[in-house]
Amino acid sequence: LQEKLSKIFKTITGQGRLTEKNINEAVRQVKLSLLEADVNYKVVKDFVENVKQKALGEEVLRSFTPDQQFIKIVRDELINIMGRANAPLELRHHPSVIMLVGLQGSGKTTTAGKLALHLRKQGRSPMLVAADTYRPAAIDQLEKLGKSINIPVFCGDRKNAIQIVKGALKAAQDLRCNVLVLDTAGRLHIDDEMMKELEDIKALTNPDEILMVIDAMVGQDAVNSALEFDRRLSLTGFIVTKLDGDARGGVILSISYVTGKPVKFIGVGEKLDALEPFYPDRIAGRILGMGDVLSLIEKAEKELDKEKMEATAKKLLQAQFTLEDFREQLRELKKLGPLSSVFEMLPGAPKIDVNASEKELKKIEAIINSMTAEERKNPRILNASRKLRIAKGSGTTVQDVNKLLKSYEQMRELMQRFKHGKLKLPFGL
Ligand code: GDP
Ligand code: MG
Repeated sequence: LQEKLSKIFKTITGQGRLTEKNINEAVRQVKLSLLEADVNYKVVKDFVENVKQKALGEEVLRSFTPDQQFIKIVRDELINIMGRANAPLELRHHPSVIMLVGLQGSGKTTTAGKLALHLRKQGRSPMLVAADTYRPAAIDQLEKLGKSINIPVFCGDRKNAIQIVKGALKAAQDLRCNVLVLDTAGRLHIDDEMMKELEDIKALTNPDEILMVIDAMVGQDAVNSALEFDRRLSLTGFIVTKLDGDARGGVILSISYVTGKPVKFIGVGEKLDALEPFYPDRIAGRILGMGDVLSLIEKAEKELDKEKMEATAKKLLQAQFTLEDFREQLRELKKLGPLSSVFEMLPGAPKIDVNASEKELKKIEAIINSMTAEERKNPRILNASRKLRIAKGSGTTVQDVNKLLKSYEQMRELMQRFKHGKLKLPFGL
C-alpha cells in the first residue's frame, strides 16, 4: 500500500495541498486494503469517508510529503477507533471474575488457560472454572490444560453450568484463589439458550470482565456476533485469537468500531504462552499491509528535534557539496541517530548505513584524506590510476573508493533537487 500511495502522490509532491483527485485514488487504495484485511464493509465505508473528509480539510502539514501525511491521517483514524494504549484488565472484586464468552471454536478454552497463566505470572492466584457443559469433552479439555500449567480447575458436578459456577465461588475461598476464569459454552451460531445461560452466569458472578473471544479468521461475520454478545451481556472487551495465521486483523478494527469496546489481548498461537496484550498501534500497519511505515512515522514524530534538523539542513543546502561536505554530512547524519531513518524515507536518497560502525566512517575519512585538494573539489578527475593511489594510500580497495563515490553522487543529486525546490525536506525544513 505504501508503494501505491507514494505513486499516487508523487505527481503532487511539492504542490502543497492534497487534491480531491489524488485523495480519491488514495482512499480507494485504503478501502481495498481494509477489505482485503477482512474489515467489515460498512465499517470500511464509514472509515474511508472520515479519512477523506480529514484529508480534504487539512493543509499539508509542512512536515510531511503528501503520501506520508495521508498515511498519518489514516493511522490517526485507526488509532482513534482502536485506542492509543493497551486496555488492561480491570479486576476490582475479591475474588475477581473473568468470564469468557464466544462462539464455538473461537478459542475460549485455550484462552482461559492462557489467561490463567498470564495472571499467575502477574502474581495472582487464578482458578479455572469449567462451565461449558454443552460439549462433554470441553471440561476434560480444560482439566488437562489446567494440569499442564498446574492451575486448579473447578468442574463441580460436570452437568449444570450454574451449579458449577456457584461451587467455584465457594471453592475459590477455600483454595485462596483471587481470580476466577470462567470457560463457558459456545454454539456454532448465536442461540438464545446459550445467551440465557450466559446472562444467568453473569447475574450470579457479577464479573469484573466479560471478554468475548473472537477468531480473527471469521472475517465479516464478527461484527454481527460481537454486536449481539455486547447487546445481551455488555461486554467489557475482546480477545482476538489466531492472529498467528494469515488473518491481517481487520476483525479487530470492525469490532472495536461497532461496539466501542477495546481488544485487550490477542492470541498468537496454540501454546499457552501465546497470549499478548493488544497494542493498537502495532496492528494498524498490519491491517493496512504496510509494515513498519506507521511506526517509523511515529518514531520520527517523537524523536524530532527541529533545531538540530534545521541546522543540519541549512548546512547541507548552503554547501557546494564537495566530498568534504559529504564527509561532514555523514558525521551529521550519524549524530541524528534514529532520525536519520527519516532521511532514508526520501525518494532517491542513497542507502547510507548511518549506523555504520565508527570503523566504516574512519574508512571513508581515510579515503577522503588520501585525495588531493583538487580531487576533493572535483571528483570527476578521479581516473583508475588516481583511484588506485587513493586506495593504497588509505589502506582500502578500489571498490571501497568507488562505493564512496557512488554514494556521494547520489547524495549530491539529492541535494540539487532540494536546492531547486523539487523536493521538500521532511518536517518542514
Ligand atoms: P472454544 O470452542 O472456544 O473453547 O475453542 P478452543 O479453545 O477449543 O480452540 C479451538 C481451536 O483453536 C483449538 O484447536 C485451539 O488450539 C485453537 N486456537 C485457539 N487459540 C489459538 C490461537 O491464538 N492461535 C492458533 N493458531 N490456534 C488457536
Ligand atoms: Mg471450549
